[in-house]
Amino acid sequence: MTAYSNGVEIACDGPDEETACPNSAAVRARFGSLTARQVRADGRKDGWTTRRVPGHLRDVCPTCRTR
Ligand SMILES: [Zn+2]
Repeated sequence: MTAYSNGVEIACDGPDEETACPNSAAVRARFGSLTARQVRADGRKDGWTTRRVPGHLRDVCPTCRTR
């Protein structure tokens, strides 16, 4: 058994549909957060948001959110 698991990675989808995130940011998951839902909850504490667009969710980091 490994010491820790990366679980899922929630990466920033950028400030808008055409622009890639300048920071290539990803949520740092807390210990024990393994599912996408748990990791998104971690991200919200750091200012991450999700935007619902047709077909999928976009994850937006705190930097992109303010643009
Ligand atoms: Zn971003």
